[in-house]
Amino acid sequence: MSYRERLTVDPARIRSHLQSFARIGYQPGGRMARLAFTQDDLRARQLLLHMMSQIGLFTRIDEFGNVFGRLPASGDAASRPPVLIGSHLDTVYDGGRFDGSLGVVAALEAVTLIAENGVELERPVEVVSFACEESSRFGRGTLGSGIVAGAWEPEEIMELQDRDGQRLGKALQRIGLEPEDVGRARRSPGDYAAFLEIHIEQGRVLEESENQVGVVDAIAAPSRFRLTIAGQADHSGATPMNLRRDALTGAAEIILAVERFASDAPDVVGTVGVIQAEPGAINIVPGRVVFTIDIRGTSSDQKRQVVENVMEAIHETARRRDLETSIETLGEEEPVQLDSGLIELLESCCEDRAIPYLRMPSGAGHDAMQMARICPSAMLLVPSRRGISHNPEEWTELEDLVAGVQAYSDATLRLATQS
Ligand SMILES: [Zn+2]
Repeated sequence: MSYRERLTVDPARIRSHLQSFARIGYQPGGRMARLAFTQDDLRARQLLLHMMSQIGLFTRIDEFGNVFGRLPASGDAASRPPVLIGSHLDTVYDGGRFDGSLGVVAALEAVTLIAENGVELERPVEVVSFACEESSRFGRGTLGSGIVAGAWEPEEIMELQDRDGQRLGKALQRIGLEPEDVGRARRSPGDYAAFLEIHIEQGRVLEESENQVGVVDAIAAPSRFRLTIAGQADHSGATPMNLRRDALTGAAEIILAVERFASDAPDVVGTVGVIQAEPGAINIVPGRVVFTIDIRGTSSDQKRQVVENVMEAIHETARRRDLETSIETLGEEEPVQLDSGLIELLESCCEDRAIPYLRMPSGAGHDAMQMARICPSAMLLVPSRRGISHNPEEWTELEDLVAGVQAYSDATLRLATQS
């Protein structure tokens, strides 16, 4: 029997591992709250370390708290750059049980099959759970993978605070990590042969197109702004329409412009998710409005064009309505193209198992977009029921999980056995 035939994933084991993680940080109503560097996050990584040891992996926690478990290769293969597989175990405040955990469980499954079957490896395989992938606690995400991939210097993020005012550096100290040492967690191009991640889609594209797996070709990146519009707060009864400088009606025009320009660009989405009107009374013309604009896309050119169009609309609206505006840039990131060789590998793994798949972009950010800076990286997605995520209703059918994890394990096996 070939490796391929023997290396069939075990649905019961996948489900049971997911359940084990879902019990940690479980809140009434099925909400998950396993925020980065909290007690529950630590408990989840203890469980992971235990699972890794049982498979026979050599475990290591780096200076930022990323957890690694290595299945070594022998002879010359031992010193070759490993294939890195995994995702994250931290969650948002009212999260679900699949976001992140699936990627870690899938990596454990892949490496278990390889270890159990005594596969002769051409390079080591390393499982990773990246720390602090979610932005829920410190307002910025993919921190662990960003540190490993050198996306920023550690000092740039150590002052980030959670909603209780605790700094990231302090949170690290509380779990026995030294902020000054975090730079040592950084890895260089060439240190890893590849990074593979599997994640739930968090959208409805796979469900609607009736595919079991998505092969990600690019990860969208956001440009984010905070816009303040100042007009004049006036009495709503005593101020005729032609004398008003209403900041909120000006904002309304701009919000619709965001929607229009984003809709016209095929690979861009635009959202205004937060808005505050002041003074906020039924009988006062709003004098000041603050709102956020989030524009994302997998095409840099299209995204830049939409941002330009929106900026023009802001200035034109302000001029015509006699309003003042100030624009604060909260972040400008570049979309990430994933590795074409790995994309083809993942597609051929789906074809071999007759798994219906779709090549698609990921609208959400993931650890893979950071790892793509230092090694060829790629991702698989599995369907999210009704697209719901970051929510206790988050759900993926077992047969879809199994299909995705199978393709993921097959791809890991192929990479690990190629010289
Ligand atoms: Zn995630």
